[in-house]
Amino acid sequence: MSNDIRNVIIIGSGPAGLTAAIYAARADLKPLLIEGSQTGGQLTITTDVENYPGFPDGIMGPELVMDMKRQAERFETEFVSGDVTAVDFSKSPFTINTGNVSYRAKTVIIATGASARWIGIESESRLRGSGVSGCATCDGFFFKGKNVVVVGGGDTAVEEAIFLTKFANKVSLVHRRDQLRASKIMQEKASKNEKLSFIWNSVVEDILGVEVGHVTGIRLKNVKSGAVTDVPCDGVFVAIGHTPNTKVFEEQIDLDEKGYIVLKERTLTNVPGVFAAGDVADPYYRQAITAAGMGCMAAIDAERFLEG
Ligand code: NAP
Repeated sequence: MSNDIRNVIIIGSGPAGLTAAIYAARADLKPLLIEGSQTGGQLTITTDVENYPGFPDGIMGPELVMDMKRQAERFETEFVSGDVTAVDFSKSPFTINTGNVSYRAKTVIIATGASARWIGIESESRLRGSGVSGCATCDGFFFKGKNVVVVGGGDTAVEEAIFLTKFANKVSLVHRRDQLRASKIMQEKASKNEKLSFIWNSVVEDILGVEVGHVTGIRLKNVKSGAVTDVPCDGVFVAIGHTPNTKVFEEQIDLDEKGYIVLKERTLTNVPGVFAAGDVADPYYRQAITAAGMGCMAAIDAERFLEG
């Protein structure tokens, strides 16, 4: 058990957590930030960010979040690595455990974000790392001159598909409907890309290649006709959305039916002194800039709570 009782502990190191840290540190609250297992959050596995204000030529996701971290460090945020394994919000000061260390704080800002969702079939988990991936930025390079399939119809899927055309010979985007959810600008970019084609109204029945230890194809079912087709490919990138990282907070604060933290108003959860910011509490906007904005709001809310 750490002896100090902190003013504020921030859980999560994406744009929400880091912006909360910058604001809390500049308010002299001496925040402690617990980084989680994926330091930097989802921006670390994205490519060009073209819609974050202040970067007219765009910026790479990992660079953006590392700059946020350096800014938080400049104002003396204390960082600890590791995942939170348990919390007790039933009494103040709140307790937060990270395996072997237990921390106490008067306020907590939860900014644990969301994680990529998987299809949930056995072949997907057996072939993960052997042709099945959830991150084009991380693994795209391995598919030089190969044929790959991207599953999903949102901005992430389209962005990953476009990125993969830099390496792959051919990219097929499989979507369960006949209309993309992705923004218009991404759709336009995709339609102009000659290496990219679409397979509509189709869901993944199986990923082929388990017996040889690497992806050899994907079995698709057309949801309209019921027809099942095997499409040969060397890689499958899954980009079907995200699940909020709230498992550790179940029973401690109010969550909605999808697991997102319910905010009473602004960034306030149902527990006075516990605040939430970013994708963990936002099923709607889910942008780096909105997460950062909420991080700022949560730090100000925590500061006012401590004053009052
Ligand atoms: P998303 O917008 O929730 O899209 C998920 C996609 O996966 C949807 O097309 C959905 O189909 C499909 N899907 C969900 N479950 C499926 C399943 N079990 N099997 C097959 N398909 C499934 O998620 P996202 O693309 O990760 O984007 C998340 C947020 O980040 C969005 O707000 C997005 O705008 C933002 N984002 C922005 C950028 C950018 O601006 N550059 C880049 C990436 C992400 P349906 O359409 O049928 O529901």
